Amino acid sequence: MFRTIDSLDVKGKRVLVRSDLNVPAKDGKVTDATRITRSAATLTELADRGAKVIVLTHFGRPKGREEKYSQQLLVAPLAEAVKRPVAWAADCIGPQAEAAIAAMKDGDVALLENVRFHPEEEKNDPAFAKALAALGDLYVNDAFSTAHRAHASTEGLAKLLPACAGRLMQAELEALGKALEHPEHPVAAVVGGAKVSTKLELLGNLVSRVDYLIIGGGMANTFLFAMGKPVGTSLCEKEMADTAREILDKAKAAKCHIVLPVDVVVAGEFAAGAANTVVGLDAVPEDQMILDAGPASIEAIIDRLNGCKTLVWNGPLGAFEIEPFDAATNAVAQAAAQRTAEGKLLTVAGGGDTVSALAKAGVEGKFSYVSTAGGAFLEWLEGKILPGVAALG
Ligand code: AMP
Repeated sequence: MFRTIDSLDVKGKRVLVRSDLNVPAKDGKVTDATRITRSAATLTELADRGAKVIVLTHFGRPKGREEKYSQQLLVAPLAEAVKRPVAWAADCIGPQAEAAIAAMKDGDVALLENVRFHPEEEKNDPAFAKALAALGDLYVNDAFSTAHRAHASTEGLAKLLPACAGRLMQAELEALGKALEHPEHPVAAVVGGAKVSTKLELLGNLVSRVDYLIIGGGMANTFLFAMGKPVGTSLCEKEMADTAREILDKAKAAKCHIVLPVDVVVAGEFAAGAANTVVGLDAVPEDQMILDAGPASIEAIIDRLNGCKTLVWNGPLGAFEIEPFDAATNAVAQAAAQRTAEGKLLTVAGGGDTVSALAKAGVEGKFSYVSTAGGAFLEWLEGKILPGVAALG
């Protein structure tokens, strides 16, 4: 279990909040402020409760102090999001940070410069964590997306100050908990995407946790190949055939039912609008590639989901970027969204291309929870303990 900001008496306290304001930017302007707007909930709540709110974040991947990664461009959009002025300090530790914080009144918000301007941040250096801790009385971690990294501002700091989860972190942990840690069964997982090799740990963890593992996308080709089916020129990791068979065996032992395509859409090239046909698994031509699951597979997957209470989704079921090979991803995502709207299915998705695949299917806002956390979401699906979360326990 983790503590939330409900457990903190913040009035008059200096609260260090680790947010993830690592937004896309171009020519010194933020191009998508979603992360800032989403992070504002925790910051405004703390400020409204009378805290001095000191925001820590990283921006980009600077190697030491690199002005193009200065966070000063975030001040204006952050002020707009928290509906109050935001003070600025050109360093996240030391005299500049101390002066900015000393000037704060209860209810004020300040943003400090990029924590990654100090290489000690990513090394989780104890002296750097101590210098950060000296600036605050309490610590709130609201950056689930960096919780898989044991950095000073995500992990070290939590050990030095009373620590808890912010509202975004809380929402993410609650959604993920409901989906895999204490879900309503039956639970299905859709795992798609390009390669088995990048998702081995994920598949290994899921077979021991879910009732149905629905495998699609390029990685299904490797499984089909391992089962002796022809795959033509498909994306397929033939050297992973033994591993795929091991996963199938592990699933059997764990009583996890694996759902693979029963028919596939094939084309001569990986290109939008390429001439395509639906074929059975034994009929994939030598000079064609599998780019999507076929209509019978879609029906079988949706049927399966109709009997489930919980769905975890990572990875597209086909080459969703190029039409018409987005059909299976769209149809299954829309069916899952419909079941969610009816209150019959809890749907949690995230990682890699999943967010854009679901947005393209028009269902991003219709799942119970879509995580934008990328790497942290994947590590959680792999069953790993995230150091930033563990430190809040
Ligand atoms: P990932 O990042 O592992 O979730 O993989 C997503 C990528 O897998 C997308 O770029 C898809 O185009 C690709 N993909 C899915 N199915 C196929 C397929 N049958 N053949 C080639 N690429 C695929």
